[in-house]
Amino acid sequence: GSRPLPPEEEWSTQKYFNMIVKLFHQARERFGDNVHLLHDVHSRLTPIESARLGKLLEPYNLLFLEDASIAENQDSYKTIRQHTTTPLAIGETYNTIWDCKDLIQNQLIDYIRVAATHAGGITALRRIADFASMYNVKTAPHGAPDLSPVCFAAHMHLNIWAPNFGIQEFVGFGNEPSSRIFKHGIEVKDGIAYLSDAPGLGIEFDESVAKEYPYKRSYLPVSRLEDGTVWNW
Ligand SMILES: [Mg+2]
Repeated sequence: GSRPLPPEEEWSTQKYFNMIVKLFHQARERFGDNVHLLHDVHSRLTPIESARLGKLLEPYNLLFLEDASIAENQDSYKTIRQHTTTPLAIGETYNTIWDCKDLIQNQLIDYIRVAATHAGGITALRRIADFASMYNVKTAPHGAPDLSPVCFAAHMHLNIWAPNFGIQEFVGFGNEPSSRIFKHGIEVKDGIAYLSDAPGLGIEFDESVAKEYPYKRSYLPVSRLEDGTVWNW
């Protein structure tokens, strides 16, 4: 069968810094001061570069800066935190509470973005949310379209429970196969998501329709620096 290679995107930190403040200036001019602005950096900056970015964006009052730097070394967020009051969010790739324990208890982040499908399901997310609430860290579950409506519904139920719920990422339920396979009563109106009263997660899925869509290999894109070096996507 076909094995497509991942699409590639070029990345230049210098060019990014040359445009990012102008971008947020224009966004505030166009949309005003009363909308929440969030920015996902996809871990493309080093901690000291993230610190600089956070400082530069303070006048634009972000709800949060997402995945500014990789935090495999959780202490590295101290560098960012020491320099900026821009709120920080991370966690969409985390698998357990241990990936974010130090970030939370040292109050190095403001939003924890773990997903039910990666970080151990509803029970584990509830534990992380409770732990985070002790340190003024809010929840902001991941909501990429590759997470199914089942995962989204799990997040919705957690969001309704969590006293420290922050915001839910939502970019739609993706494509036509998804809307044919999954039946759910979730509605999103004017920026607010509503659950149905259906029992359980409130989701049904049709395996016979799913069989019409056999697995196809696909990849997330790959970033490269201008000299060809592979970089964080
Ligand atoms: Mg993200």
